Amino acid sequence: MARQFPLEHVRNIGIMAHIDAGKTTCSERILFFAGKTHKLGEVHDGTTVLDWMPQERERGITITSAATSLEWAGHQISLIDTPGHVDFTVEVERSLRVLDGAIALFCAVGGVEPQSEQVWHQSEKYNVPKLAFINKMDRTGADFFGVLEQIQKELGANAVPVVVPIGKEEQFKGIIDLIKMKAIVYDEESEGRIYHEEAIPADKLEKAKKWRAFLVEKCAEQCDTLLEKFVETGDLTEAEMWDVLRRATVARRVVPVYCGAAFKNKGVQQLLDGVVKLLPAPNQIPSIICSNDPNNTRAVADDVPFSGLAFKIMADKHIGKLTYVRIYSGTLHAGDNILNSSRDKMQRVGRILRMHANRQEPLEEAHAGDIVAVVGLSETKTGDTICDSDNPIHLMPIEFPTPVVSISIAPESKGDNERLGEALHRLADEDPTFTVAFDQETSETIISGMGELHLEIIVDRLKREFNVTAKVGRPEVAYRETATNGVEGQYKHVKQSGGRGQFADVCLRLEPTGSGTGFEFVNDVVGGHIPQNFIPSVEKGVVKAMHHGPFAGYPVVDMRVTLYDGSYHEVDSNDFAFQEAARAGFKMLFLRAHPTLLEPVMSVEVVTPEEFMGPVSSSICQRRGRIETMEAKGDFRIVSGLVPLAEMFGYANALRTATQGRASFSMVFEHYEPVPFAIIEEIVKRRREQNKIR
Ligand code: GDP
Repeated sequence: MARQFPLEHVRNIGIMAHIDAGKTTCSERILFFAGKTHKLGEVHDGTTVLDWMPQERERGITITSAATSLEWAGHQISLIDTPGHVDFTVEVERSLRVLDGAIALFCAVGGVEPQSEQVWHQSEKYNVPKLAFINKMDRTGADFFGVLEQIQKELGANAVPVVVPIGKEEQFKGIIDLIKMKAIVYDEESEGRIYHEEAIPADKLEKAKKWRAFLVEKCAEQCDTLLEKFVETGDLTEAEMWDVLRRATVARRVVPVYCGAAFKNKGVQQLLDGVVKLLPAPNQIPSIICSNDPNNTRAVADDVPFSGLAFKIMADKHIGKLTYVRIYSGTLHAGDNILNSSRDKMQRVGRILRMHANRQEPLEEAHAGDIVAVVGLSETKTGDTICDSDNPIHLMPIEFPTPVVSISIAPESKGDNERLGEALHRLADEDPTFTVAFDQETSETIISGMGELHLEIIVDRLKREFNVTAKVGRPEVAYRETATNGVEGQYKHVKQSGGRGQFADVCLRLEPTGSGTGFEFVNDVVGGHIPQNFIPSVEKGVVKAMHHGPFAGYPVVDMRVTLYDGSYHEVDSNDFAFQEAARAGFKMLFLRAHPTLLEPVMSVEVVTPEEFMGPVSSSICQRRGRIETMEAKGDFRIVSGLVPLAEMFGYANALRTATQGRASFSMVFEHYEPVPFAIIEEIVKRRREQNKIR
C-alpha cells in the first residue's frame, strides 16, 4: 500500500495557547471545516451547513485523542493535543517533541499573557516553527496591532502579519489578505461559515497598503535576489512571497500572523491555508538527533529502516491500550515484529490506526512522518524508541521530571480494591510523571505526581473513566534520603535454626555522589571471595533497602555502593542470604554515614498587580522561599523565586486572600535541596510516629 499523501503534503502541528485563549474552540472549528471542505464550495445557501453543524456539535467534535488526523487542501494534517496548564509542562514538552510546527494562539484582548511566554520559550528550545493566530477579534477590547506588538516585543519574534482585520469587536467582518490584496468577508447569515472575496473597502485601502508594504519588505529582507527585485520594481509576486515566507517560517526567522474569531467561524479556514503553505513537512526540518550515536541518524524517508517514538499512551474503552507513535523513518506494517530499544524488548505490532475526529481508520502500514496509534505494544512506555531490530537506534528521549507530591489512596468501598489497583496502573502506564507504590507495612497505596492539581485530576479520572470513587490522604512531599559522609564496613547474615543454615558475608562501601547522580553499584570483589552468581543478589538487597530508606522511610538517592569483599559458605550461602546481608548491611552503614533529607524545591512564578507586590513578596519569603527576579510587564509585576514544595500546599488560597484574587501563580519542579536541620528532626519524628521507619 503506497502512502496516501506524499510526504511533502504531511503536516504535524499543535496549537499552543494560554488557558481560555480559545484553543478548544479553534480545534473544533478546524475539524469542522476540514470535515466539510468538499461541501463548502458547493453550498450556496448556507442552510445545509447550518443544519449540519448543530448535529455534529451534539455528537461533539472534540479532540479526545492525542493526535487527530484531518485533511485540508490535499494535505494530511495531524493535530497534536497540547495542554494549556502549566502544572503539566511535561505534556507540553512531549507534544513539542513530536510536532513539526505550531499555531501559537493569542486572545486579541488578553494578548501575550505572562504564563504563555513559558510555552513559547519551550517551543523555541525545540526549534518549532510557528504561525500566530490572534483570536477573539470580535470581543470588546480586541486589539490586533497591540497584540502584534506584544508578540514582537515581549516574545522577541519577527512577527509579520499576512492578514489584517476588517473592523473589530462587534464590527469584525473579515480580514484583508495582504498577499492577494483582497478582502475576505464572512457571511453573517451562515454565521461566518461562508465567505467571499471582494475588493478591499476604500476606507481600509491605505492601511492595507501600509501593511502589505511591511510584509513585502520583510519578505525581501530574507533573500538577496528578491531584495534586488524589490528595489527595482517595488513589489513581489504572490508566488515569490509564499515561497520566501515558507522558507523563513521553517527557519524560524519569521512568524506569520493571522487573525480571526474561532467562535464566530472567522479566519480559521485562512489559518489552515497558512498551515499547509507555510509550516514544514516532516522532511523539511533538520533531521532528528540520536542519543547513542550522533552518526547514527536516519533520513526522513519510507525506504530506510523503521524508527519511531512512543509519545503517548491512552486507554481506549473498546480497544484497550493505544500507543501513539510518531514515525521518524521507514515504514511500519501491521503484524511487524519490532524492537523497543529503550527496554531491549521485542514487540509485535497489532493494528495500526489513524485517529480521526469521529472514526478510527485501520491502516496496513504507516510511513515516515506519520502519527498513528498502535495496538499491541504491551511493554512500551511513554518516551520509548521503537525500531527495526536489525538497525537499532535510540531517539532522543523525552525528559520527564520526578514526581514530587504523594498521597495515600484507598477505594471508598472495600470491594473496589482490585479495580482501583488496575486503574492506577493503567494511568501510570499513560503518564510517566505519575507513579504508584504499595507500602506493605502500612498496607497503603501511595500515588505520586507533579503537583496537587495533577493528583486531583487523577482522582477525578478514576471516578469518571474507571468508576472507582477513592478517598485520599493529605498531600505529602516526596522527600529523598542521602548520606553526607562515606563509610565502609562488614555485615554477616548468619542463621542456624535446625536444618540448613544461612550464611552470607558482605563488605560494603557507601559514598555520596552528589545531586542528581542516582544510584551506582560497583562490584570490586576479587579472588572469588563471593561467587559471581551472588553478586546480583547483593545488588538486589541494596536496591531493596534503598527503596525504603533507613533514616525516615524515603527512597535513598545519589549514592555509590561498592561491594569490596566478603565470604561465603559452600552449603549455607544462597541468593536469599546474600540479599538479606546486603539489605541489613546497607541499613546499618547508611545510618552511620550522616544521613540527611532532600526536598523538592519548586520554581514559582507569581503574576500580580503592582499594588500587591508587598504581600506577594512576603508570601514567598515566609515560605522559606528566595526571590530570584522581579520584572514589570505592563501593569503587572512578575515575581519569580524558589520555594520548597512542602511550604506550597494551600498556596493558591493564601495568595487569593492576600491579593483579593488579583494575582495568579504557576510552579514547576526545579531540583532537590537539603532540608534544614530543625525541619529534618520534625519529619523524622512524625515518620516514626506513623510507623514509617523500620
Ligand atoms: P481554551 O481554554 O483555550 O481551550 O479555550 P476555549 O476554546 O474553551 O475558549 C474559552 C472561552 O472563550 C469559551 O467561552 C469560548 O466560547 C470563548 N471563545 C473562544 N473563541 C472565541 C472567539 O473567537 N470569540 C469570542 N468572543 N469568544 C471566544
